[in-house]
Amino acid sequence: MALIVQKYGGSSVADTESIKRVAKRVVETKKKGNRVAVVVSAMGDTTDDLIDQALSIDSNPPEREMDMLMTAGERISMSLLAMAIHAEGSRAHSFTGQQAGFFTDARYGAADSAYSSARIKRIQTERIQTELDKNKIVLVAGFQGINAKGDATTLGRGGSDTSAVALAVALGADICEIYTDVDGIFTADPRIVPAARRIPSIDYESILEMASCGSKVLALRCVEYAQRFNMPLHVRSSFSRRPGTLVVPDGIDPRTLPNLD
Ligand code: ASP
Ligand code: MG
Repeated sequence: MALIVQKYGGSSVADTESIKRVAKRVVETKKKGNRVAVVVSAMGDTTDDLIDQALSIDSNPPEREMDMLMTAGERISMSLLAMAIHAEGSRAHSFTGQQAGFFTDARYGAADSAYSSARIKRIQTERIQTELDKNKIVLVAGFQGINAKGDATTLGRGGSDTSAVALAVALGADICEIYTDVDGIFTADPRIVPAARRIPSIDYESILEMASCGSKVLALRCVEYAQRFNMPLHVRSSFSRRPGTLVVPDGIDPRTLPNLD
């Protein structure tokens, strides 16, 4: 039995129909006999909309309140996804970053930056383990944690990728699957360069080089984290069944990884 962490980005859960589609895919993974934990992003443009609302009230909003606001987006998608999984006849249990035991440092997340924001210090996985042991699908709100004061913090834009990899490492998962709206990582942006080719398998270093050249499929911090702990990643589309891109440590045969179909 494999333990799989899946992350679904905002475009994969943009509306309730998409959430139902994602629920089917999550349940399918579970029914293949895997243990499954899922990290979700906020629906579509929710985070941008929340930031716009805040800035329309105060051009320099208090950081603490900004983080409180931004964590709301992921709570909406995780609870709706739990309901959609329930409607599929399976059992799911959703957790905020706080409930999931994501402890961060004291920084609040700057709305416009991926770097000057909170960093995960440790993940206390007991509650998640308990629900996985009950054979449930566990859902975790991405991009958030709590600081030592118990206040909500956020991890920077695109931070759900980092939540997913950190959770996969903390749980000792076999793979962390990152679901997005493109079929993996390409030699160039396939939406702009039609001749771009999908990269079937790649190492962390090359991804980090691509990211520093502006490729934005994965958050830089999440790749650094995966590299540090040798966590295999599978970047793939939630809209298709195509194979995606495996990001694996040197020396691992990608064909030995779970849930490749
Ligand atoms: N919802 C957050 C953002 O839009 C985090 C994420 O999607 O990874 O940046
Ligand atoms: Mg993203």
